[in-house]
Amino acid sequence: MMNKQTQNKIRVIPLGGLGEVGRNMMLIEYQGKILVIDVGFRMPEEDMPGIDFIVPNIGYLKGRTKDIVGVVITHGHYDHIGAIPYLLPKLWHPHLEFYASALARGIILKRQEEFPGQPPLRINEVKDGSVIKLGPFEVEFFKQNHNIPDNLGMVIKTPVGNIIDTSDFKFDESPVNDKPTNFEKLRSIGKRGILLLMSDSTGAEEENHSLSEKTIEKNLEEILKKSPGRIIAATFSSLINRIQQIITLSEKYGRKVVIEGHSMKSNVEICKVLGYMKTKKGTLIKSNEISNYPDSKITIICTGAQGEESAALMRIATGEHRTIHLKKGDNVILSSSVIPGNERTVQVLKDGILRQGVKVFHYKMMDIHAGGHGQEEELKEMIKIMNPQYFLPIHGQYSMLVAHGELAKMSGIPEKNVIIGENGQIINLNNKGYTIEKGKVPSNYVMVDGLGIGDVGEVVLRDRQMLAQDGMFVIVAAIDRQTGKVKGSPDIISRGFVYLRESKDLLKETRKKVIGIINQTSGSNGVVNWTYLKDEIKNKIGQFLFYKTQRRPIVIPVILEV
Ligand SMILES: [Zn+2]
Repeated sequence: MMNKQTQNKIRVIPLGGLGEVGRNMMLIEYQGKILVIDVGFRMPEEDMPGIDFIVPNIGYLKGRTKDIVGVVITHGHYDHIGAIPYLLPKLWHPHLEFYASALARGIILKRQEEFPGQPPLRINEVKDGSVIKLGPFEVEFFKQNHNIPDNLGMVIKTPVGNIIDTSDFKFDESPVNDKPTNFEKLRSIGKRGILLLMSDSTGAEEENHSLSEKTIEKNLEEILKKSPGRIIAATFSSLINRIQQIITLSEKYGRKVVIEGHSMKSNVEICKVLGYMKTKKGTLIKSNEISNYPDSKITIICTGAQGEESAALMRIATGEHRTIHLKKGDNVILSSSVIPGNERTVQVLKDGILRQGVKVFHYKMMDIHAGGHGQEEELKEMIKIMNPQYFLPIHGQYSMLVAHGELAKMSGIPEKNVIIGENGQIINLNNKGYTIEKGKVPSNYVMVDGLGIGDVGEVVLRDRQMLAQDGMFVIVAAIDRQTGKVKGSPDIISRGFVYLRESKDLLKETRKKVIGIINQTSGSNGVVNWTYLKDEIKNKIGQFLFYKTQRRPIVIPVILEV
């Protein structure tokens, strides 16, 4: 695989996060030694029934785990850490070390408790200014502002030049519970000479500058001021800054705060222990204490802003929550959905809440991606500060990567040095140029469904989609062992296709066809080619049903010998 030409080049291999939002995972390889940056997951698309998450494909690392010099983590958002428990068993070897900030480490380890029987996960704590030597690489971490504290960008010193991974970031002069962006530090890094800048593209299609956390707080306060009753704010469990803001504002207005939702409770707990969240004594109460206070003194912060079925807000809205029920006078703050295609679910949730006489504020700035990511001006500024030889937009849909590439050109990066990459590509790079190899490494979706990782592939998914669209049609027929002919009348069972009782004629015709196919296919002496027979029934009945109904149910023949 390695020849002279590529020997003194660095290989940059994105396994996820390019052309999609989430599932971030990047490999930096030099002479066979591999540095892994982030191990994130993403949410499934709307047409993936039953799929919980999509994780990176690590086929490229198969048999090479001993070459991994370390796994470095930028921050504690699930699109950067979420796949760890699913991939750790495959990534693991006795010397595998992770590196993460205190908060990211806390979140990872806490979540790991839900996955018993995993190999031991060793995470070393790093912080702003930490420098670690990992094989041929030297990684220096630097603080970046985002909507979760303890977020680290990194400059990776390699034998061929410096590479920067910005992590998710925005420039914020007035952040919440955090220091403002340290431009001096960023400029000093840029002055070292940067071979490659890999920068967060999530906000690349948005004009101007992202809102400061202070501004977001002001907007939230407006809603709080206007709400005489209880406030029920649904947001993301990892959006630590937003949770903090709502707590602080609630304290300002004398409200007690209830945290609802398993993941949110545990994140708040970790943040408090590690000092990333500040609450006054007595602010946080349990949900069964709500009735001790007037409605005007209660804020409930919960999960479920996307209409997730099992999340706290859904349970509250549908009356299934143990202690919290909606009532007139409540005010629900809903953040807009992250996943394109989830809008309908959120709409249904919203309508369901409104029907109960409750006010709903749909506040987009509480979205995990809005507000947390640098926009046009910040992205250009980052490029100017780092002034890299090459630019690789990361973290984002393809259109975001392209938009970010345009910003790079505007910021003085020559077009030929702007690399719009895709997952699975192998980018070979040094200061003399770069090439993208013809062959790709595996980067297709690995889907998580319940306990299964990767066992639901394209075929299973296609079946599910077909079942969801046109249902299924089972034909049970008995064949006489002696004659090879159908015995009795075939049984038909269908789900999600047509209402059988009202389709008697269709069924009658189908039965006749089935009998015909079987009798024609089986030999006169009773010899039956089972595979051929089943295929014949599948194809011919499939065609027939389509001709009659313009639908394509999954046809399942069950043939018994009697
Ligand atoms: Zn993030």
